[in-house]
Amino acid sequence: MAAPLHHVIIGSGSAGFGAAKTLREGDPDCRITMFTMDGIPFYHRYELPEIFRGRTDWRDLLAVPPSFYDEHRINLRRRCRVVDVDGAAHTVSLAHQETVPFDSLLVAAGGRAYLPENLTGQADLIHGFGSFEAAMKVYRDLPKGGSVIMIGGDMIGIDLLLTLLSTGYSVTLIVNAQTFWPHELSAGERAPLLDVLRNKGVRVIENARPVGISARNAGAPARQVALDDGTEVGGDVVMAFCGLASSVEFMLRADVDIERGLLVTPELRTTNEAIWAAGDVCQIWHDGDKAYKFYHGWKNVRVMGELAARNIQGAHEPFDVDVEDSIWVGEDGEIHSTFWTRET
Ligand SMILES: Cc1cc2nc3c(=O)[nH]c(=O)nc-3n(C[C@H](O)[C@H](O)[C@H](O)COP(=O)(O)OP(=O)(O)OC[C@H]3O[C@@H](n4cnc5c(N)ncnc54)[C@H](O)[C@@H]3O)c2cc1C
Repeated sequence: MAAPLHHVIIGSGSAGFGAAKTLREGDPDCRITMFTMDGIPFYHRYELPEIFRGRTDWRDLLAVPPSFYDEHRINLRRRCRVVDVDGAAHTVSLAHQETVPFDSLLVAAGGRAYLPENLTGQADLIHGFGSFEAAMKVYRDLPKGGSVIMIGGDMIGIDLLLTLLSTGYSVTLIVNAQTFWPHELSAGERAPLLDVLRNKGVRVIENARPVGISARNAGAPARQVALDDGTEVGGDVVMAFCGLASSVEFMLRADVDIERGLLVTPELRTTNEAIWAAGDVCQIWHDGDKAYKFYHGWKNVRVMGELAARNIQGAHEPFDVDVEDSIWVGEDGEIHSTFWTRET
């Protein structure tokens, strides 16, 4: 009897989790191994701002109980970093030296916060918010009623910003081209949205670029951001929300084509027959536009994970989602966006 197929998934976010569940539904016998750098099983990342409302117990954020993985025979390996994929040998290598063979590989490694090039040297002075651990660090480092300097302010950042305001913190927003990303807006379209934030008490800085960040001694705000107009802004924490950069660095030897993300067909297969990709990590071919496109956002990535799993198991379904993309000021005077999961 042939050995059961071994499906390996890199990433336990929405795409990876949806894929693992679908693979199991499609084949009760296959082996499924899922690697993640996260310390906790799949949770809804869009709920992370809720930490500031007191939801600091990680168990409270989980999408399914931890027993789900055993019950579905999904081998979830947490705190494991994939450092290399050998596309010819069909193996995945981990930071701790282990090498794991696969029959099919699904890369669902998402993206990390993009940092403007000129600030990468000061990355250790910038707080992240992409994982439960990172969000908890911000929560602990920010004094009650303290101040956040937010660079950019993509829709993930704006969601956090609104939560910070309503829980007693203050925010300075340094606007750049990624403000309100993934929405692409002209200056005219952005203006009323920024006015909403100003009316809520946000200090909005336009037309100045951060050029340096420094740490301050006790007694002063912990961080100082220097701007290219010669002024400086002080705050307790600096955060950058400037869109996402796909997590593809471990795929360079995998014999797959990469632009900014992993390039996949509408069926989500890469240029390597055994490797597939889903979620924020991939760019999907759009035949109408003759271009590879990102489809960021919760609703899309979940669909992609499930679709990739069905195609790995022999289906030939294309990704065909009609993505709504709009942001507006409602009659209630608040910002609304089709990107925000909490709106749906
Ligand atoms: C605070 C916050 C709020 C958000 N709000 C919204 C919202 O309201 N609406 C919305 O649509 N989207 C929102 N998003 C974005 C949404 O969460 C992402 O689109 C979605 O999580 C992407 O899913 P994914 O499965 O592609 O990747 P992710 O959820 O990013 O998961 C990536 C996985 O890959 C793993 N990984 C990465 N590299 C490696 C490696 N080398 N080795 C092993 N594992 C690796 C990670 O550990 C993780 O498990 C929000 C995101 C955040 C952080």
